[in-house]
Amino acid sequence: MSESMPVEISPVYEGERIRKQDMYVELGGPKVEHKCELVLSRSMDEVEDGKVSIVGPDLNELKEGDSYPYAVLIEVAGKMVEKDLESVIERRVHDFSNYIEGYMHLNQRYDIWCRISKKAYNKGLNSFKWIGLALAKLYKAEMPFIEKIQTTFYTDPEKVKEVYEQALKVYEARDARARGMRDEDVDTFYSCVLCQSFAPQHVCIITPQRVSLCGAINWFDARAAARVDPKGPIIPVEKGECLDSIRGEYTGANEIVEKRSLGANKRFWLYSAFGFPHTSCGCFETILFYIPEVDGFGCVDRGFKTPTVNGLPFSSMATQVGGGIQTEGFLGIGMEYYRSPKFMQADGGWNRVVWIASTLRARIEDAIPAHLKDKIATEKEASDIESLKKFLVERGHPLAKKIEEMEAVKVEEEKPAEAVPAAMPGVTVQGLPLPAGGAGGGGMRITLKGAKVKIGQLIIKKD
Ligand code: SF4
Ligand code: ZN
Repeated sequence: MSESMPVEISPVYEGERIRKQDMYVELGGPKVEHKCELVLSRSMDEVEDGKVSIVGPDLNELKEGDSYPYAVLIEVAGKMVEKDLESVIERRVHDFSNYIEGYMHLNQRYDIWCRISKKAYNKGLNSFKWIGLALAKLYKAEMPFIEKIQTTFYTDPEKVKEVYEQALKVYEARDARARGMRDEDVDTFYSCVLCQSFAPQHVCIITPQRVSLCGAINWFDARAAARVDPKGPIIPVEKGECLDSIRGEYTGANEIVEKRSLGANKRFWLYSAFGFPHTSCGCFETILFYIPEVDGFGCVDRGFKTPTVNGLPFSSMATQVGGGIQTEGFLGIGMEYYRSPKFMQADGGWNRVVWIASTLRARIEDAIPAHLKDKIATEKEASDIESLKKFLVERGHPLAKKIEEMEAVKVEEEKPAEAVPAAMPGVTVQGLPLPAGGAGGGGMRITLKGAKVKIGQLIIKKD
């Protein structure tokens, strides 16, 4: 684009990953406490169009190989720019930043993780000025309702902390707006396909009681975006007929999912992790995962780095959850959804949650119903399935009785087949006769590997 721009700006760089050995510096990310990005709408006279400010050391003053606190504040103005658009504009920082050769941007809001490559730095990307200019140009090209834009980059740790604290308040105020509204009260939901550049089949359905899985776009934000940019990635969805109010299935949502996923997915149950769950792209704030051994859910956020109670860390589960494929029992969800009365309504809601990473718990403590506060484990109380079972039974979790019953069946099943008396001619499982041990046989062991087993009823009886 601009002649003086030292690196290229193009969507072809969107998938660029900068590995540790190739990075010049890291901005934000897991090693620093404070990082964030924030878009604020301002009046026309408050914004100096194209201005880029740097508070703290510039890129060429940072030590190669280190990680730094980092905040990006973008202020926008325009006749059509309204407060509700802030989230939607902010959500584009991710893709526009990734258009910049040698600048990697991951995640959103309070959790950004950026890197500058050595190659780009050596080409001249040695000042935040270039990033600010590139963002301004991209924003004005892609979101023409933005008439003025100014950007401030913060690397001074104290200032980053200040912006971070301000940003948390702004995010909370945005999220709180949709609380109290019900899906039943509106005729229109919204759908977003911004993430199809990474997950081509993925479609988000955003309702008053189900925030987007990236956590950045709620129903109000989506409504504002669809109004101002009707040809953009966010469009209205006529809700249509409610086919199932418990699972959250609507004809209008199904139609739009089928259309915008190009037939890959045809039905969504908005309030369930089973059957036809909402798909996930890759930028979900948290993962909700089914734990079959206790028939409950675990929840983990991106900031939790160690393995969860099922032995898998967030990063391993993220590859299973993402990609726009419906995966029963695994769901990427936005943090605000935990506060929704519709949260996993069809699956038992909070009564089905058994484990939460402590980092996530700290963010959503207020969402946990009072009667469950001491009954849901974190990694401190349960680091594996056995300790989880013990914890849940001891604390009288709503699933405790079921876990005890499952354990009893398991003990029964695990008895060696040889121990079955020879006189017992057979065991019937749902009418299927299995040979019992004895009569010359050494018993039989059936091992199911990688199988998904759904058992509605298990009847074990002596003939
Ligand atoms: Fe849009 Fe969903 Fe991606 Fe958020 S996660 S940007 S709502 S497609
Ligand atoms: Zn996404």
